[in-house]
Amino acid sequence: MSTAVIAFGSNLGNRAEIIGVARAALDAHPSIVVETMSPLHESVAIKPHGADESAPAYLNAVARVRTDLSAEQLLEELMRIERESGRERHERWGDRTLDLDIITYDDLTMNQRHLTLPHPRAAARLFVLEPWLDIEPGANLGEQSIAQLAGDLGSAHPAARTRSNHSGVIS
Ligand code: ATP
Ligand code: CA
Ligand code: CA
Repeated sequence: MSTAVIAFGSNLGNRAEIIGVARAALDAHPSIVVETMSPLHESVAIKPHGADESAPAYLNAVARVRTDLSAEQLLEELMRIERESGRERHERWGDRTLDLDIITYDDLTMNQRHLTLPHPRAAARLFVLEPWLDIEPGANLGEQSIAQLAGDLGSAHPAARTRSNHSGVIS
């Protein structure tokens, strides 16, 4: 069995419901068990030119799963669940009903276009690090603790910090 950290994001449609359905779809897979999932956090949309207050805000969450699937097989499942949510791909970082990224898969490192692990942009994203801290405050990403990464980023970019009421009722 392997352990993977998965990031959820949604900024179109009924975001909380879409993330809840995605969690249930993962858990319903015979080879995936969702061990724990963070509360929902809300964050400003990031576009290639920077934060976009005019775009719908995101809800984000991070889950830890156990799985018998390989990292590639897990990614295929995530993409299937994204498609089921109605995800369409247009411009880079465009608005989407559901985005599911693999942040880490055991200690695996790989660098291919279709799958890069750990996720190459996770260390710079408070919308990944802050929900991840909720479920795994002692986690490391590469050589650095996620607590340190999130602390530094939050000081440098306070507007990128996420909002969470820690009861999962943000919707
Ligand atoms: P970002 O990768 O910056 O978070 P995005 O999630 O909006 O952007 P997508 O359009 O969802 O990008 O995915 C683009 C491609 O990224 C996918 O086709 C997938 O094969 C690839 N990819 C590479 N590494 C990963 C990973 N760790 N998790 C999910 N997808 C990945
Ligand atoms: Ca993403
Ligand atoms: Ca993605």
